[in-house]
Amino acid sequence: MTKYVIITGGVLSGLGKGVTTAAIGLILKSRGISVDVCKIDPYLNVDPGLMNPYQHGEVWVTKDGYEADLDFGHYERFLDIELGRDHNITTGKIYLEVLDRERKGGYLGQTVQVIPHITDEVKKQIQMIARLNHPDVLLVEIGGTTGDIESMPFLEALRQLRMENGRENILFVHVTLVPTLDAVGEQKTKPTQHSVKELRAIGIQPDILVCRTDKPLLPDTKAKLSLFCDVGKLDVLSNHDVPSVYEVPVVLDEQGFGDNILGKLSLREKHHDLKDWRRFIKHIKSLKQSVRIAVVGKYTDLRDSYISIAEALKHAGYELNSAVDIKWVESIDLEDDPSKVEVLSDVDGILVPGGFGVRGSEGKILAINYARENKIPYLGICFGFQLAAVEFARGVLGLRGANSVELDPKTPHPVIDILPEQKEIKQMGGTMRLGEIAVDVESGTLANAIYGCTVIGERHRHRFEVNPDLIRRFEERGMIFSARSDNGRRMEILEIPGHPHFLATQFHPEFKSRPQRPSPAFLSFVKAALENK
Ligand code: GLN
Repeated sequence: MTKYVIITGGVLSGLGKGVTTAAIGLILKSRGISVDVCKIDPYLNVDPGLMNPYQHGEVWVTKDGYEADLDFGHYERFLDIELGRDHNITTGKIYLEVLDRERKGGYLGQTVQVIPHITDEVKKQIQMIARLNHPDVLLVEIGGTTGDIESMPFLEALRQLRMENGRENILFVHVTLVPTLDAVGEQKTKPTQHSVKELRAIGIQPDILVCRTDKPLLPDTKAKLSLFCDVGKLDVLSNHDVPSVYEVPVVLDEQGFGDNILGKLSLREKHHDLKDWRRFIKHIKSLKQSVRIAVVGKYTDLRDSYISIAEALKHAGYELNSAVDIKWVESIDLEDDPSKVEVLSDVDGILVPGGFGVRGSEGKILAINYARENKIPYLGICFGFQLAAVEFARGVLGLRGANSVELDPKTPHPVIDILPEQKEIKQMGGTMRLGEIAVDVESGTLANAIYGCTVIGERHRHRFEVNPDLIRRFEERGMIFSARSDNGRRMEILEIPGHPHFLATQFHPEFKSRPQRPSPAFLSFVKAALENK
């Protein structure tokens, strides 16, 4: 029987609940306990695909083409697993399901209510996830903060689930904030006390508190939290700031977290081995060199917008024994004042990530032009792939006004056009070309050298593509398309032979990058950047 660990959050959002969840998963996994993980997002959107990255951070894409919350990235990276659309529950999904059933007469004669109909559906979906892989433990992270109106039905459903399944089979871990007041340096417990009170009002007594703080929790703070929140002293854990999120499992495990959870759930470890991970942490704390990479994007103020890009760069650096220092460059600034492109003069490599919409796009094109002409290693991803083709069309083929029809529907040279199957699509949610698709790589190309094979699987998220009519002209002038999909119809990788490293992908290699297994595309890019130092 699958047991559950429920992770709730208190005090404020953005505490790193996703990382804590992933870390708990890794601790359990290292003890031979099989885990699966799911996320509950209490918003009304059916999925986060149409949300602005400024509000919600990046959109993660799963192998099966689901647009998911960025916490899925933490889960996949830490646990080295592949999740799918069924691992996400949103209020939107739950209500769609219940309302559809109501219209079909599934509740004939009844008044449909939040309790029990919505809460029953929540429990049903969680149990369905448990049946997907039958793990020993299913981790269930609840997005948002305790006390939010939106999360009430979910917490109520989980309270019921605990009652139905027995206390020894469901554990509640509450992640909260313990701020330090600078003036006195005192760790304040009141916000945590209040948020635990909120949970108790719903009928949930947390078993374990994981406290986010800047410095390790002091013994007095622990004692106070234990007393006021009615948890054992050993059940108050310090999750203090560390240089890398990958250290979190070690920080928690050193406080006996693994034994604690196993004890509470009456699970027996099969082996005990965080050794490999500890070795990895030791390695990333003693990197020998560093390399400077510019990421030219539109949402650079909010780092969560490009979290997977930043992680994939770091992963490549780990492999090459190098730290990666990211210089965030706002493309709109370059667009407003093109002379600012000189901010790129001190970097070893330039990356243009995925993106949408016209604002900032000319700034990205300027950056690509700078990389191409100054022979600075370049990696373009999705939008950064499409704009590399636009830049080449303008700068090398001399096609003035060349553009993507996404940005200029009347362009005389539509280098990037809408995917034919997208033309008729009216509904926006979940309708892009999404998920893992097989890509054929041409032998003898840089792409082939990087991936070391001729068929790869990478994740996609786009509506537009390279216009096949222009390909011959591109290839005659030195930009080749070294990987394609759908029987050669879709361009997937472009490169410029002769340039130190000019490579761009229509797909998103960052989603398959793992801390100890970097994405080949990122690895070759960072390597070229190191050689360019
Ligand atoms: N806006 C482009 C498209 O829809 C690129 C998308 C992306 O970068 N993810 O095709």
